[in-house]
Amino acid sequence: MSDPYAWIEQSLATIHRADWYRSVQTINGCCGATVLLEGQEVINFASNDYLGLASDPRLIAAATAAVQEFGTGSTGSRLLSGHRELHRELERAIASLKQTEDAIVFSSGYLANLGAITALVGKRDLILADQYNHSSLRNGAILSGAAIFEYPHCDVEAVKTELKRSRQNYRRCLIATDSVFSMDGDLCPLPALVNLAEEFSCMLLVDEAHGTGVLGKTGAGCVEYFGCTGKQLVQMGTLSKALGSLGGYIAGSASLIDYLRNRASSWIYTTALSPADTAAALTAINIVKQEPQRRAQLWKNVDYLKKLIQQHLPNLKLLPSESPIICLQFASAKDALQAAKQLKSASIFAPAIRPPTVPTSRIRISLMATHDQKHIEKLVEVLKYRSTSF
Ligand SMILES: *Cc1c(COP(=O)(O)O)cnc(C)c1O
Repeated sequence: MSDPYAWIEQSLATIHRADWYRSVQTINGCCGATVLLEGQEVINFASNDYLGLASDPRLIAAATAAVQEFGTGSTGSRLLSGHRELHRELERAIASLKQTEDAIVFSSGYLANLGAITALVGKRDLILADQYNHSSLRNGAILSGAAIFEYPHCDVEAVKTELKRSRQNYRRCLIATDSVFSMDGDLCPLPALVNLAEEFSCMLLVDEAHGTGVLGKTGAGCVEYFGCTGKQLVQMGTLSKALGSLGGYIAGSASLIDYLRNRASSWIYTTALSPADTAAALTAINIVKQEPQRRAQLWKNVDYLKKLIQQHLPNLKLLPSESPIICLQFASAKDALQAAKQLKSASIFAPAIRPPTVPTSRIRISLMATHDQKHIEKLVEVLKYRSTSF
């Protein structure tokens, strides 16, 4: 008899041949604008910690105090023994930031998308999804059993044509999109999608993983940035990026949130968010509200990098971006890997992102409020020096 696991080695060999193989890299010590990557000090352009809050003493103190008071684990699901007043405080703070009636926190952003989508639509329904949506939106759509129409990236006309053609064949309809596309850095055409959702009676789920704390006057996200605050939306986000903690959420109407508490399996059948993560996220939201200068500094850094690239590297191929995520495009996975390696040898940590995560290989740079001008200048200098061999 043949070994039933032999195919795994063969599959790994195929992954290697395509230059798609992935492995972890160890960061030693604390996170920040510079980190120790496998013992080497590098400038960190690979972090989602946009505001630098993951190492903020106030978040650390809040998490530590919560562990002291409540212990390390929440010991049960929210509906059984896991619920603490701290969870409700966090949910109220999220609802207040988003200006929605209520919010519900999940143990991760991934689980928030899986839970919300499978609760909102099923076999008799239709999902319209941007082709570049995050894995959690894609897998939530598949798990829901709904019919899926994947539209070309940001193509509002394609959404409209499909809704005209087929909306009447389905019971409910959900449009689902990243607000800031996580591997590209551009924004979804939110106002046009809101209009279509209203015209064709569709629910609209916006994934604000990279928008929260970053976009909008108060840091509420892309919804605020586009003046869509107050619209009937399903606003999803994570506590793990600009908020420096762990966990995810859905914000929206009181009835939506009440319904999710009764129907979202990835919330009902999993252990409640830990006290430490909950307390850190709550502290982060207060900082986002009280310290807009962090967001202002982040955007200053974005503008500075874009200006320097324009001046010094006019030949680099940049993907369109309206966020702190800036991508340099490469012809092949091999070229992108080579570039990442060269950057790393010059103490710049900016990873190559390759298929199957994205259709085309790229170096993905994400900026933080805590980068200083020298960090950004060094990045451009290294890119300039290396760009001949890119
Ligand atoms: C990171 C991310 C998620 C998942 O959030 P986690 O809290 O890390 O599970 C969902 N959607 C998008 C667009 C993301 O970038």
